[in-house]
Amino acid sequence: MRTTDLILALVLLPTLGSAQTTPTEIAAAADVLARIKVLQEKIAPEETAREITGRIDPKRSALIEQAGRVWDSEMEDLSDHIGRNPEVGWAEFEAVDTLVKVLRSKGFTVETGVAGLETAFVATWASPAGTDGPVLGLIGEYDALRDIDGPFHGDQHNAQTPVAISAALGLKAYMESDQVPGTIRIFGTPAEEVGPPAKTIMYEAGIFDGTDILVRSHSAPETFRARAGFGVCCLNINEVKYVFTGRPAHQLTSWNGRNALEAAVQFYTSVNGLRSTFRPEASIQGVIPEGGIAPNVVPARTVVDYYIRYPDEVYLEHMTRMMDDAARGAALATGTEVEIDRYGEYRDGIALGSLEELYFAYARKLGALRINEIPQRPAGYEETGWVTRDIPGIGVGIFSSRDTYHTKGMEADGMGEVGHSGFRLDAQIMSAILYDYLTDTSLRQKVAEEHAELKILLGDYHSRLREVYAPEISEIPNGSPLQPGCEN
Ligand SMILES: [Zn+2]
Repeated sequence: MRTTDLILALVLLPTLGSAQTTPTEIAAAADVLARIKVLQEKIAPEETAREITGRIDPKRSALIEQAGRVWDSEMEDLSDHIGRNPEVGWAEFEAVDTLVKVLRSKGFTVETGVAGLETAFVATWASPAGTDGPVLGLIGEYDALRDIDGPFHGDQHNAQTPVAISAALGLKAYMESDQVPGTIRIFGTPAEEVGPPAKTIMYEAGIFDGTDILVRSHSAPETFRARAGFGVCCLNINEVKYVFTGRPAHQLTSWNGRNALEAAVQFYTSVNGLRSTFRPEASIQGVIPEGGIAPNVVPARTVVDYYIRYPDEVYLEHMTRMMDDAARGAALATGTEVEIDRYGEYRDGIALGSLEELYFAYARKLGALRINEIPQRPAGYEETGWVTRDIPGIGVGIFSSRDTYHTKGMEADGMGEVGHSGFRLDAQIMSAILYDYLTDTSLRQKVAEEHAELKILLGDYHSRLREVYAPEISEIPNGSPLQPGCEN
């Protein structure tokens, strides 16, 4: 999670229960929300979760114990080790090296550098009983945050992969002893805190293909779960680089050149001019990381990097299109060329009631602390949203810090008792959820049905938004006339 998202999350607090933010979105979603409610009544996630977690099942109890033992005996130390040796996104070389060694020693086959990302990996274990069973996936991150005095694990990503390994080893022990067919996969996903979004790149490269379910843990200042539906913790984002190319020349004969900095500045100013044309929830922030080399040389290359955000992706697309046009306009006006590189996209993800309630029932049963009983705004189990639209899953977040995200307090708790006990529970619950998914066909069906239906509803929501926005985002200017009596 990013700091800006946290601030926005606070701003948006009154709407925490629903994923829709603006009055337009709330109105457009009315029918879809009613259908989500009907779906939830049919799936009955709370009753199902109570029934599943209430079963007396010695095999599951043994697996939960085993996941806890693995955490206690090895993974807690590994989590602290990564915590004491923080590495920022895309540079998590030592963490990955250590994790890969550990996974290989536990019988996993590990492929590194997947999707062309140096610090991404996939670890696979195939059951000796065969692979004719579900593919059970776990996500692990390991990147640290940046601070002026160096990197630090203020979001407790150090624990994520050790937690995933503990959960996987609990499950593996059961599958081996009972000869249960299936596959366990741990996805090492780098650089959660910095763009471009690694999970989107891995998703587009097909790395998650064939996975039936994904579980992941994350640090949490309280134990909470999400409502069923779709949404994102904060906003949908397009990350776009505008690269202007001109022609170099000495400034004393600048007429021979074409100034890419003039283009960048004109574009930057045009974007400010666009702000009043956008709805008030729009959020646009940009920097000019490349502005030329020397004052006496006409800048031949400049880069303007923007994060464009809006609560829904339909209006976001409209904003991005207008910004792209502004960039082309600036290029045309200065005799330069512009290349538009949309290098990152974050979208609403899908949250499943069936898995959220199952996780939460385990959290209560196994004694998680600081439980928030109010279901929170729906958000996918991973921050890009893309993977959650394709593969059902759950993000587990047991109370692991008395401080909030991205703080030194959270870092300290991550290597102390509060974090350790939270992570141990994360691992046990993830292992239990995967066990239930593996052994209970009716749960598997419910998860698949709920995911398929929510995916359709997300598409319907976007269609409805397109209709509602049509008059204001179509190419032909069609502003609504000033209302009579509106004199302010
Ligand atoms: Zn995080």
